[in-house]
Amino acid sequence: MRECKTGDNMAKCNCTYEPCPRKGLCCECIKYHREAGELPACYFPPEIERTNDRSVEKFIATYQKRRR
Ligand code: SF4
Repeated sequence: MRECKTGDNMAKCNCTYEPCPRKGLCCECIKYHREAGELPACYFPPEIERTNDRSVEKFIATYQKRRR
């Protein structure tokens, strides 16, 4: 089994929500948001990530706007 690379994950994490016990634990982060019908912070650009709206609807709306 591979070792969890929490330190590497933390270096790349763009999440601004404090405090969150799942930071750096990407598998737990994805599971948490998936069960809530959401996506993790790293799927969103900074200005949207800061709103803490991690819904699938917001993700789709964000990227539909960017394609126009
Ligand atoms: S995206 Fe969600 S679960 Fe992941 S670190 Fe941020 S607040 Fe925590």
